[in-house]
Amino acid sequence: MNKASVQFESDRFTGTDLALIERAYARAEAAHAGQTRKSGEPYLIHPVAVAQTVDGWGLDAEAVAAALLHDVVEDTKVTNEDIAAEFGPAITTLVQGLTKLTGIERIPQADEGSGRLDVTNENLRRLLLASTKDVRVLLIKLADRRHNLQTLSSLPLEKRRRIARESLEVYAPLADRLGMGSLKAEIEDLSFRFWMPEEYSNLERQVRASMAKSDRYLVKLRYELAQVLEGGGVQAKLVEGRHKHLYSIHKKLAKVDGDIEKLYDLIAVRVIVPNEAACYQALGLIHHRFKPLIYRIKDYIAVPKPNGYRSLHTTVFALDGRITEIQIRTHEMHAEAEMGLAAHFYYDSQKGSENYKAGGTTATMPQSLEWVRRLNELRADSDSGQEFVDNAKLELFNDRIFVYSPKGDLYDLPEGATPVDFAFAVHSLVGLRTLGARVNGKLVPLDTQLENRDVVDILTKREPSPNRDWLTFAKTTHARNRIRAWFRAASREANVYSGRTLLEPQLRPWGYRRIEELPKTLIASLLDSYSAREIDDIIAFIGEGSVSVSQVLRRLFPAESARPVGHPVVSRPLATGRVLVQKTELPYSLAPCCSPVYPQALTGYITRGKGVTVHRRNCRNLPSDADRLVVCTWELDSTETERLVCVLELSCINRVGLLRDLTSRVAKSGYNIANISSRDDDEGESLVRFTVEIPDLYELGTLMHDLEGVAGVQLVAHINP
Ligand code: MN
Repeated sequence: MNKASVQFESDRFTGTDLALIERAYARAEAAHAGQTRKSGEPYLIHPVAVAQTVDGWGLDAEAVAAALLHDVVEDTKVTNEDIAAEFGPAITTLVQGLTKLTGIERIPQADEGSGRLDVTNENLRRLLLASTKDVRVLLIKLADRRHNLQTLSSLPLEKRRRIARESLEVYAPLADRLGMGSLKAEIEDLSFRFWMPEEYSNLERQVRASMAKSDRYLVKLRYELAQVLEGGGVQAKLVEGRHKHLYSIHKKLAKVDGDIEKLYDLIAVRVIVPNEAACYQALGLIHHRFKPLIYRIKDYIAVPKPNGYRSLHTTVFALDGRITEIQIRTHEMHAEAEMGLAAHFYYDSQKGSENYKAGGTTATMPQSLEWVRRLNELRADSDSGQEFVDNAKLELFNDRIFVYSPKGDLYDLPEGATPVDFAFAVHSLVGLRTLGARVNGKLVPLDTQLENRDVVDILTKREPSPNRDWLTFAKTTHARNRIRAWFRAASREANVYSGRTLLEPQLRPWGYRRIEELPKTLIASLLDSYSAREIDDIIAFIGEGSVSVSQVLRRLFPAESARPVGHPVVSRPLATGRVLVQKTELPYSLAPCCSPVYPQALTGYITRGKGVTVHRRNCRNLPSDADRLVVCTWELDSTETERLVCVLELSCINRVGLLRDLTSRVAKSGYNIANISSRDDDEGESLVRFTVEIPDLYELGTLMHDLEGVAGVQLVAHINP
């Protein structure tokens, strides 16, 4: 083997830096001696390629040395202790974070094409933990992955596909989160090729054909743009036409039924100008010349993307009315968009090496890298390594949305986040005091999923009083942990108090108002089943959320005695309520004015051509011509599904859309609702009362609990009709 064929060269380093890199190179060369890659080439090719990438990104000598050494502990006899003794703690941290565990069992693959890939979680956990100590570890890892993808074809098919998919699901999003646009595109296209070889080559052919047609167009457009800008006094240093990368086209195609002709942003033109003012000037000139699609103008300079991306985007009817996307940015923005985190090192390697590497301590870390610091919090908040990895994946690799506060501050949340997540992202105290939320000016339920660019305004109460139900829909680890912590920390008294307010309304169906009214024998057996000393212990369990009300109810009132004596029980066949009209089944419809429900007395009215309209007997809209009225009764089916008729009374803070939210919540559970009425008082509170038919009292308890989760609802009580 020709040793001289592998070398690492860089002209950026001198003195001790150069000496460090040379030592690292020598160590790697010795350690990997005799090893080959699957392609048959000397193994050293790999660490050298990774080091070259890292060098090209402008990282410091430590990072380059660590890149050279990154596989030494994993693949050779060299130990962490050896590295620590020879190269010191910083490089050891980097190498350790990059060392994969090979001894532990790999997690079996998820079924192909379904669900999320299980990456080797332990390795990911180590990588992320190391990155909280030194963010350079992520950059070296990405360089490592890039080279592995470039040389993937020498691996067996199955392994190729696994690595390709893992790269699409973990490493491309990671590059995106680091703002490294071109690396993300490169990883995606390399992976796409191995993950879906057929789709890849089909698409490549299609795109090439379509591009051939646009090449001349692009040349003309670039010339035209250069003229327009120069004529307006803007010095555009570079006007570049380019094609979207294949994987992003592949993803977009799904949205237009695979018709590539419908994608008008297949190509884009990039205008690079000297400064920010020139960006807006250029935008004005371009809009003066070509009409823009108004909804596609995006100012990511004033409001950068969560990963720090800055640029102006516009889509215009360009030459011959052809719709074309144009991106305008400065050189610095351009470098950042392409290189992201690496650009920060590149522009200020001095600052970079000292400040940026430690995500946990620095104030100079770019704001878009907040999440690296958050990883530290995540770790502190997670009970286990698995939980940490799950949380980190949620934070890092799920799609993100960004939303605004009413003042225009930008918040970055995972897709599916709710106003509660937003409130906690603003501040824990805002989160804990959340009362309701306005999204784009409209009051919405707190479990509403936010959309990109929503403006979210949180209405707060004076005192913190989070709702335990928030845990069922809050998406971010941060919000969930703060909610749980609050309930954990709430004093016993508070837990007893809130446990009581949860439990006692639900005792009413059984005829008890207070827990003390329960027969002594029931209480004794309840204490016994929870090994509790006094009843307040159990109520506190409910208050802190470790025991649910329905669990306690089921212990207290086992199924056979579930139905309290004297409670109205109805038997009726169908939820829609079938009606017999004068003992025969005529076509009928229920009158929308009074929507009768069982067991209300009925009267039918024969309409012309539409059969019989069935009203409540006392409906005021019932026409008075007696000869067209008919007797109607509810049909009782022999199966006799028994249902309870219950009346619920809800104390609410009045708001627009409240009734709609309440009824839709009931409808979601599949129950019938009737006789809804509401009474407002002067203080903006309202009392909503309605009848609901429900299979049993346990379900009633669940429904009451659900209703309490609707924004504005303060108390739900069950009253005997
Ligand atoms: Mn490697």
